[in-house]
Amino acid sequence: RFIAFEGGEGAGKSTQARLLADALSQRGVEAVLTREPGGTPGAEAIRALLLDAGVAHDGQGWNPRAEALLFAAARSDHVERLIRPALAAGKWVICDRFVDSSRAYQGGGGGLDEAAIRTLHDIGSGGLLPDLTVLVTVSPAAAEQRLRLRDQGRSDAIGSRPTAYHMRVADAFVRFAAQEPERFAVIDGDGDAHAVHKRVLDAIEPLL
Ligand code: C5P
Repeated sequence: RFIAFEGGEGAGKSTQARLLADALSQRGVEAVLTREPGGTPGAEAIRALLLDAGVAHDGQGWNPRAEALLFAAARSDHVERLIRPALAAGKWVICDRFVDSSRAYQGGGGGLDEAAIRTLHDIGSGGLLPDLTVLVTVSPAAAEQRLRLRDQGRSDAIGSRPTAYHMRVADAFVRFAAQEPERFAVIDGDGDAHAVHKRVLDAIEPLL
């Protein structure tokens, strides 16, 4: 089984991905927890290129097409070297972000054409999609508060996007979930992490 967690910054998806991987392991299910961009040495190197403000044009960031290509390249390595082999070995893969992040950020946020992102994903990763995509949503106020605690002092190339960008990202995620209700579970991420985890387990239960 392949489960992806998606959501905007501060939604708590990384925490939820970890809690799910732990819960599965406790039930004797072999689960690999991984993240995007990253997950393999090559993809983590690309992650550094994406997140290091100093690399991308003195902090201006990559142009949207270059950014999409880098995300697609990182994903390709990750899928080929880690995700597909783990799935083939019968393991569960729990991935913090996957292609829907590209659709929401580079597409919804950055304005890149949806078809182009699909094409990159087909070329790079054979169009692989999760069995279930858990979209964690939170109120903007809750997200902001969590980010203030987490990101004190953080300044990266893609961490300084305007609020309007993040609103387009959030809208895009909700739209994708409405378009493919069978592939998405929309989870309310407001409140205590353990309460949210219970909601995630309820959504996963049919796959167990
Ligand atoms: O998952 P996390 O929030 O740590 O993601 C790292 C950064 O990469 C975030 O700033 C996120 O907005 C960005 N990102 C992106 N496009 C993607 C995936 C992640 O801009 N496709």
